[in-house]
Amino acid sequence: MSPPADRELVAAARAARALAYAPYSGYRVGAALLTAGGEVVRAANVENASYGLTLCAERAAVVAAVAAGHRRFQAVAVVADGPDPAALCGACRQVLREFPAGLGLRVLLAGESGDEIVATTLADLLPASFGPERLGRDPEGDFRSGPGPGSGPGLGSGEGRDG
Ligand code: ZN
Repeated sequence: MSPPADRELVAAARAARALAYAPYSGYRVGAALLTAGGEVVRAANVENASYGLTLCAERAAVVAAVAAGHRRFQAVAVVADGPDPAALCGACRQVLREFPAGLGLRVLLAGESGDEIVATTLADLLPASFGPERLGRDPEGDFRSGPGPGSGPGLGSGEGRDG
């Protein structure tokens, strides 16, 4: 990804931030996932009166992407309220870790202006991480060979739209 492409992905996350449902904290976050096929899936945080059920923008984007048939990601951009670059919570780092890009996933962080972009990777954000391989799963293999045990009815292939 070139810096112009980075800016585009951050712009998508900024636009998504405007859609946040954050009546309790007022803290709006937008995320944009770039799939292996070059599509951008956007989402925002969704809060709940039962605070613990609040869903972060990053995980909402993963869920939306998987539901649309995407399981391979190149990068994620996250934009949050305020001047400082957004930061991913631990839960979102772990959820992003699940997919084939794994620790190599590029992560772009920006504040609400989107002007300054911090580019990093999941490896930097989630050191000594736990992943599918610890349970004897080959993430690449799982995504190549179709649904495995417990994956349920789906697209009829583990490849999704990115395969
Ligand atoms: Zn989170």
